[in-house]
Amino acid sequence: MLKISFIAHDRKKEEMVNFVTAYESVFAPHELYSTGTTGTRIMEKTNLQIQRFMSGPLGGDQQIGALVAQNEMDLIIFLRDPLMAQPHEPDIIALLRLCDVQGIPVATNVATAELLVRALARGDFAWRELVHKYKPGVDQP
Ligand code: PGA
Repeated sequence: MLKISFIAHDRKKEEMVNFVTAYESVFAPHELYSTGTTGTRIMEKTNLQIQRFMSGPLGGDQQIGALVAQNEMDLIIFLRDPLMAQPHEPDIIALLRLCDVQGIPVATNVATAELLVRALARGDFAWRELVHKYKPGVDQP
C-alpha cells in the first residue's frame, strides 16, 4: 500500500475529480491524502477515503511537504494552475523542491498523471514499498 496525495488548484479541481473518478479502482487500495478542498471534492464524487489536510493556501501543501521530507509519501498528483498567481506560491515551490530532494514522483499536469497512474496499476511503484521497509538510519537492510 502506497501513500498518494492529491492537490488541485481551483480551476483544476474538476479535472482532478474526473481523473480520480476514472481511476478510482486503482487508487482505492492505497492510503490517500489531499489538501482540504480537493479531498472534499473527490470524496463527494467517489467512494474513496482520503485523509485531508488543511486547504493549500492555509498550509496544506506544507503539511504534505512534511511527509515528503520524511520520505513518507510515494506519489503526488498536483494539478497546478499555470495561468493564475497563487498566494501560497512559496509553499508550492517548497513542496516541489522537497519532492526533488527525496525523488518522489510528482505529476503537475494530467498527462503525466495518466502515465503515473498506469504505472501504479501495473505495480511499477513496488520499489517504493522497499523504501518504507528499510528506512536509512532506522533499520539496516
Ligand atoms: P485546496 O488546496 O485543495 O484546499 O483547494 C489546494 C491549493 O490550492 O493549493
